[in-house]
Order: sequence, then structure tokens, then C-alpha cells
Amino acid sequence: MGRRIGILGGTFDPVHIGHLRGALEVAEMLSLDELRLIPNARPPHRDTPSSSPRHRLRMVELAVEGVSPLCVDARELGRDKPSYSIDTLESLRAELAADDQLFLLLGWDAFCGLPSWHRSDELLEHCHILVLQRPDADIEAPEALRDLLAARSAPAPEALSGSGGQIAFVWQTPLEVSATQIRQLLAAGRSVRFLVPDAVLAYINAHGLYRASN
Ligand code: ATP
Repeated sequence: MGRRIGILGGTFDPVHIGHLRGALEVAEMLSLDELRLIPNARPPHRDTPSSSPRHRLRMVELAVEGVSPLCVDARELGRDKPSYSIDTLESLRAELAADDQLFLLLGWDAFCGLPSWHRSDELLEHCHILVLQRPDADIEAPEALRDLLAARSAPAPEALSGSGGQIAFVWQTPLEVSATQIRQLLAAGRSVRFLVPDAVLAYINAHGLYRASN
């Protein structure tokens, strides 16, 4: 029987409890063998203040230390430009066995933007998609996704079978925290304690990250 591997891409600038709690809940619900957090190379237009790829990677490493089955996959930072999801999926697939199952976790907003992604119609050849749903999300899917949802929806995450090809929605404990909010608090000299793991907070303080002068 193949392994069950979830992937959650993000800027993680910095990683916070919204990412971590969501990832852990999905990993438990689907009995995943691994849930890899994959820090993205940052698109050049992104707002500052922000931290370097090295700092973002280190904070994710600290956050998942000893938290099985969460782990870090640094492959996108090894490239000199932002990766398309399809490239990452192809590179992961090249390392996995044919019967390993890949689950791509996407927030509802990200999922709604899927039709504009590079080679979006090929994504489901490599993985299942898990849409992280929230109680206050607009449930109505955009027109461009209706046919895809009609053809590929599974009734529940537990019903996903095979190595990929289906879409399911997962509900999670809502935690309205964002990296933007954390950067703003830090820039204003306020505390972010309990919004990030203590080890991440210690790293932010030790390196003076996200201060107004950076
Ligand atoms: P920023 O505020 O800088 O845009 P962010 O907090 O949204 O960052 P990202 O690194 O962009 O974090 O998010 C990576 C993934 O984690 C996305 O799929 C996003 O939907 C999801 N995510 C972010 N925050 C939360 C949260 N509070 N609860 C659940 N999922 C989240």
C-alpha cells in the first residue's frame, strides 16, 4: 500500500498557528504519513517588510520540529525563481512510488483562482485537491470551476481513492490569523506570542525580523 502525503505551499512569512493547526488537523483526519510544508520562493512584487528565504525556511523547520507527521520540503527555495505548482507536483511525483497518494491542500481563495494557474488542467493528474473550507467562506464556486467540481468532487475527504484526480472539502477549526497581521503587529512593536510557536517567536526576536526598520 502506498504512502499518503499532503503538501501545503505558502510564503510562511512567518509560519503561524493558522497554517500549523490546519495542517495537523488535515494530517490526522486523513491519516497522512507526511504533511510537507513547502515554502515558496517569493514573487518579486510582494510587499515588504518580509524575511529572506533562509529565515522563512528556518522558522518552518523550528515550527514542525518534533510534530509528526508535519515536515518541511525546501525544493522550491532551491530554484532561482518562483515555481509553478505543476512543476513542484511533477518533481515530487518523480520521487514517489506510483501508488503513493498526494494531497494538495489549498485554501478556498487559492482554489477559486485555480483556473488561471499554469497548466491547471494537469494538476489532478498528479494529486487529489483538498480545499480548506471555512464557515464564513463564500460557498458558491466561480463559474469556471463548476464543471470541474461536478466531474471531480468526492463526497468526503475519506472517500478519496487512487493516486489522484479528485477534489474534496475539509472543515477546520477557524483561526483568523494571517502572516500579514503578524508582520503588522511586530512592525508596531506589539507581541505575537501565541500566534506563532514559541520557537518561531524566539527566532524572530533573535534575528530582529519584521521590525519597522527592516
Ligand atoms: P499573508 O498574510 O502574508 O498573505 P498567509 O497568512 O495567508 O500570508 P500564506 O503563507 O500565504 O499565509 O498561506 C499558505 C497557505 O496557508 C494558503 O493555502 C492559505 O490559504 C493557508 N492559510 C493561511 N492562513 C490560514 C489560516 N489562518 N487558517 C487556515 N489556513 C490558512
